[in-house]
Amino acid sequence: MEIDVKKGFPCKKCGACCRNIGKAFFVKNLALSDGICMFLDQSTNLCMRYENRPIFCNVDAFYDKYMTDKISRDQFYKENIKTCEELRMLTNGR
Ligand code: SF4
Ligand code: SF4
Repeated sequence: MEIDVKKGFPCKKCGACCRNIGKAFFVKNLALSDGICMFLDQSTNLCMRYENRPIFCNVDAFYDKYMTDKISRDQFYKENIKTCEELRMLTNGR
């Protein structure tokens, strides 16, 4: 799959990551008892603190801060997209 990294991470805004936050090591403290992030607006699948979300929720900021000397941005996006697809399977393709 071709990814235009100049456009930033191609998030589909499906909310699957935010619905499975209880499984994420760094941000699991944000999870409600059902594993869904307390900041997810479940009617829109959008983050209610998007501009101030943790860096672990921001693929581009995380890459810029921690990953530039470890992996290409393109490869990092591809790894994240794989995880997104796995998470979508867990949330019935939402
Ligand atoms: S699972 Fe991936 S595509 Fe869906 S909202 Fe999260 S980052 Fe975006
Ligand atoms: S803080 Fe926002 S982006 Fe991060 S898991 Fe919660 S709803 Fe999703």
